[in-house]
Amino acid sequence: MSTQNWHADRLTYLDPSGIRKVFDLAKDLKNPINLSIGQPDFQVPEAIRQKAVESIQNHFNGYTVTQGIDSARNALKVREGIQNTPERELILTSGTSGGLVLALLATVNPGDEVIILDPWFALYPNMIRLAGGTPVPVCTYPDFDLPVNRIREKITTKTKAILLNSPGNPSGRVYPIDQIKALSELAKEKGILVISDEIYSAFTYEKEFVSPFRFNSDTLVVSGLGKSYGFTGWRVGFAHGPKDLIQQMIKLQQFIYVCTPTPAQHAIPTALDCDITPLIETYKAKRDYISDRLQVAFPHQKPEGAFYLFLPVPIGWTGTSFVAEAIRRELLIIPGNVFGEKDTHFRVSYAASQETLEKGSRILLEIAKLPTPV
Ligand code: PMP
Repeated sequence: MSTQNWHADRLTYLDPSGIRKVFDLAKDLKNPINLSIGQPDFQVPEAIRQKAVESIQNHFNGYTVTQGIDSARNALKVREGIQNTPERELILTSGTSGGLVLALLATVNPGDEVIILDPWFALYPNMIRLAGGTPVPVCTYPDFDLPVNRIREKITTKTKAILLNSPGNPSGRVYPIDQIKALSELAKEKGILVISDEIYSAFTYEKEFVSPFRFNSDTLVVSGLGKSYGFTGWRVGFAHGPKDLIQQMIKLQQFIYVCTPTPAQHAIPTALDCDITPLIETYKAKRDYISDRLQVAFPHQKPEGAFYLFLPVPIGWTGTSFVAEAIRRELLIIPGNVFGEKDTHFRVSYAASQETLEKGSRILLEIAKLPTPV
C-alpha cells in the first residue's frame, strides 16, 4: 500500500508555494542574485539580541501562559494604543502566520466566504480553504487601491470576513485613509469582520499608516515584529481584537502553538524601545533607488510601504516566462501568479544590499530590452 493513501484530502486545497518553485529552479545556481526574499537584510539590533540571550541564561526557557507574558503584552498594548481599552484583548502568537491561522480557525465555518484582495499574500486563500471557507477574490489591478465598491458587490449572506493587508505584500501599497474609513464603515454596516494584517506597518515611507481599527473598533488586527526588527525566525506575532474573539484564539492556541517562544517574548519590550527609524530610512532609500531605476522600463506607481515592487512585465511576456528568463540570468524574483489570478507582474524584494540591487536591476533592464518573445 502506498503511504500516499494516508494523505488527507485537505492537502489538495493547497497550491504548492510558487515561491518554493522559484527556489527549486534556482537550486543549482552557485551565486544567485536574490531579490525574492521577504525578510529584512539588516541585523537584529544588539540590545534585542542581548535581551534574548540573557533570557535564555536566566532560565526563561519553559512554557509561558498561553496568551503570553504580561510585560510583553502590556508593551504591545501601549504601542497599539489599546492600553485603556478594556473591551479589547491582545494575544502573543507564533509569528503573524500563527495569528492568521488562529483568526481564521476561530471565525470561519464551512461554507463561509472570506473576501481577499488580488494580489494577496499566498497564505490567505490556502488558510481560508483549510478552515473550510471559500476565498472570494476582488481584483485591485492596476493601481492596487482598496476598491470599496467592488468589495460591496461581492458581499453575500455567506460573507464572514474581509482580509486586508496594508502596507501590502506584494503590492507595497499603503491604503489611503479615506478608503480605509469607507471599508471600515461598510464592514460595520454589513456586520462583517475585518481582519487586518499589519505586519509591514513599520515600513511606511511617506504616507501615515492607518489601521481600520481606528474607524471600526471590532476590527481584528493581526501583526508581528519579525520584519520590523529582523528576527523573523523568532516567531513573534500578536493579535488584538474584541475580547471574546481573542479569548477563543487563546483557547485554540493552547492546543496548537501553546505559546510564542519564551526567550523571544522576554525581548519584546526591549525591541519596542529600540528606535528603528534609521533602518526604515535605509529602506526608503533602497525603494527610491530601485523604483526610480526601473520606472521607465516597468512603469509603476511608487509603492509607499513594505519592501516590494510589484512590476508589470513588458508586452509579450507573462510573469512566468519573464521570471524564467531572469532565473536563466541568475536573478531570483517571484512571478505574479503566486499572489493571485493574473500572470502579468513580478515581485522584486528590495530587502537586499545595494550591490545586489544594482546587479538585479541591471539584469531586469537587460531583459526589458530583449526583442518581444512570441
Ligand atoms: N503576512 C504577510 C503579508 C507577510 O508578507 C508575511 C511574511 N512574508 C506574513 C504575514 C507572515 O509573517 P510571519 O513570519 O510573522 O509569520
